[in-house]
This record gives sequence, structure tokens and C-alpha cells, in this order.
Amino acid sequence: MTDDAPRLPRRASPPATQARPVASPIWPSVVWAVEDADALDAQYEGRARGFAYSREGHPNGEMLARQIDVLEGAPEGSGGGLVFGSGMGAVSAVLFGLLKAGDHVVASAQLYGRSLRLLTQDLPRFGVAVTLVDPTDGAAWRDALRPETRLIMAEVVSNPTLRVADMGAARAAAEQSGARLVVDNTFTTPRAWRPFEHGADIVLHSVTKILAGHSDVTLGWAAARDPEDREALAAAQASLGATASPYECWLAERGLATFALRYDRAEANAAALADLLAGLRGVEAVLYPGRPDHPDHARAADLLGDRFGTMVSFRLPGGRAAVNRFLHAAPELPFAPSLGDVQTLLSHPPSSSHRGLTAEGREALGITEGFLRVSVGIEDFETLAESFTRAVAAASRP
Ligand SMILES: *Cc1c(COP(=O)(O)O)cnc(C)c1O
Repeated sequence: MTDDAPRLPRRASPPATQARPVASPIWPSVVWAVEDADALDAQYEGRARGFAYSREGHPNGEMLARQIDVLEGAPEGSGGGLVFGSGMGAVSAVLFGLLKAGDHVVASAQLYGRSLRLLTQDLPRFGVAVTLVDPTDGAAWRDALRPETRLIMAEVVSNPTLRVADMGAARAAAEQSGARLVVDNTFTTPRAWRPFEHGADIVLHSVTKILAGHSDVTLGWAAARDPEDREALAAAQASLGATASPYECWLAERGLATFALRYDRAEANAAALADLLAGLRGVEAVLYPGRPDHPDHARAADLLGDRFGTMVSFRLPGGRAAVNRFLHAAPELPFAPSLGDVQTLLSHPPSSSHRGLTAEGREALGITEGFLRVSVGIEDFETLAESFTRAVAAASRP
């Protein structure tokens, strides 16, 4: 090689083509080039459309966000939602983007564990006070209000006991106080409940779970009714660095294509599994909002119609030993603390999501050592029925 041979050939422009790709391209570029300083000004001042630096947004993120906007019915004029590197990125951007020292938050005591940790361990360090309430107790939402309440945060169906929040009371509390109502819609998904149609000001998701659906990306999404709130979320996202990877957005877009099909199938499996478990000797209790024996069944039917979801929980009478026998007898059901995968996943809240609580705290929520949560997948129901029947029988035989 001679010294004047080029060592780094210039990148070529993408080939010109009159036909456009049908599948979405992936744009991994972190940085975008413009013609000159005036063009950059035009972009930052909103007179021209373009990207600059991917932490502030990129095409794959926008394409995914626009699809979730449609599913969730992001309000006209809101500017649409934003994607984040994880569901917790979305939660963090909402809390850090919209709150300041002296503000007060009213939140369900049964939110996702990390959200609760952020609310109770981190926000107080920044001078934000938080009151947790029983989400099923309508009066509790109102009674917790203070003049400085700025946010009210709820999940419709709680983890892992699948209690159904009094969303009417949460909304009324928001209206009475002028606080924003924030709904984490990860469990219910827009297939069952569309929070913007029920008074929510901000809706967020762990896209990692049911929307993407294959346990191979971590992503979040959040949208705000008020464009000023959206700007605050976008600024928090860029400052916190809760950036979504373009490749993961692309994978999630692919997952989203089958979301409705997967959801409907998993939900039908969940309803059938709940009934199967309820009929098995060796199961102490089954929790599924679609069953008349669920403590919030009437509210679930009122809020969700017949969309009772893809999660089922149940209790084995023999404590942790019975849980371990169950797991050993069904190694084909992954024992993994997540949800929303195409495959059925099992989790044991006392040793995972709820291990930070005391035994008494768990007991108060009905989370015994024999408690298992099932994220129901899209398998043929017969194979699930066979696995669960076999494992329950093994669990009850010490
Ligand atoms: C998983 C989950 C989150 C957090 O999402 P990540 O993508 O894991 O950061 C938030 N809320 C709920 C209800 C969840 O299930």
C-alpha cells in the first residue's frame, strides 16, 4: 500500500431509489449533519424538522412513539409521546420533569416496586413529599390531597395481587385538586383501558413488557395531554439520559405489529388458566379480576368490560417448599421475574418484586410464601393446562 492511498474512504450516501423500503430501516446514527449554522438554528427553533443528537431523539424512536400514540389515543395537539430507554426511564422523566421541592404526590401503595422506591426513597431527598394510599379505597385518594398536591399516580391493576384501583376516585381527586393524573398502563395496555379517555393527563408504559412482548428489549413510553408537560418530559429525558436504542425501538416496532393478536390470545389463555387452577385440588386461592370470586370483580367489569388481562396469580397452601416443588415439576415454564412475554413466565413475589417488604407487610397484601404470579403467554392452552395440572399435583405431594 502506498502512503497516498486513502485509509478511510468517505462514507457513501445511501443509494438513490424510487422505491421505498416496506420494513422500517434502522438508523443507528448518533449524530446528524446539517448544511450550516443557520440550518441548525432553524431546526432548534422549530422552523425546520430534523435530528441533531440521538439522546434528544431519533427516527426509530419517533416511529415507535407514533404507533403507541395511536394505540393509546394520545390527545390531538399534545405533540405525541416519547420513548425512553426503559419503563423506569419514563417514570423518572415524569417525576423529575414535573415536580419541584415543596410539591406533594399521592400514589397508589401498590405501584411497580421500583416506582415505589423512587417515590419513597428518592423524591424526599429532593424535597418532594409522597403519600401512599390503598388504590381500591375511593375515599383514601381524596383524603390524601393537600394544597400542594401536584401529581396523582395510579396503575389500574396492581402487581401481583391484581387488585383493581378505584380510577373514578383517582380522577375525581385530580379534578378537585388540579393535580395531574398519571397512569402507568403497563398491565392493562390500551387493549383493556385507554387512560386518556378516562381523564388521565399523563400515560406511561414499560414497553419492555406486553407491548414489545418478547423479553428482548427494555423500553418505555410516556405521553402528556399538555404540550408544556411534554416539553418537560423531553427535557428530563435528554438530561437523565433515558435514551432508547434505535435497534431496540426497531425490535419493539416488530413486536407491536402482533400486540393485539398476542394480547387477545394470552388473555383467553389467562381466563381459562384461572378457571383451571380454581378447580384443582392443591390450589388455595386464585386471583383473576375476571372471576366472580375476585374481591374487585364488580369494579373490574365496570372499568374494563370483559378485558380482564393476561396476568393470573394463585396461592399454594404449602408455602415456599410447595412453590419450589411446583417449579421443579414444570421446568418448561421459565421462572423469571418479568411479564408480557410470548411464553408463559412464573414469578414468586416474596423472593423477587416484594422481597424488600417485611413478611408482615407482604401478609397484609395477601402475598404469602406460597404465592405465584403467572404472566400468561400465547401457547396452546392444552400444553399450559398439562404443565399446571402436573406441577400443582407435584406441589401438593411433599
Ligand atoms: C416493568 C414495569 C415498569 C418498569 O419498566 P422497565 O422497562 O423494567 O424499566 C414500570 N411499571 C410497571 C407496571 C412494570 O411492570
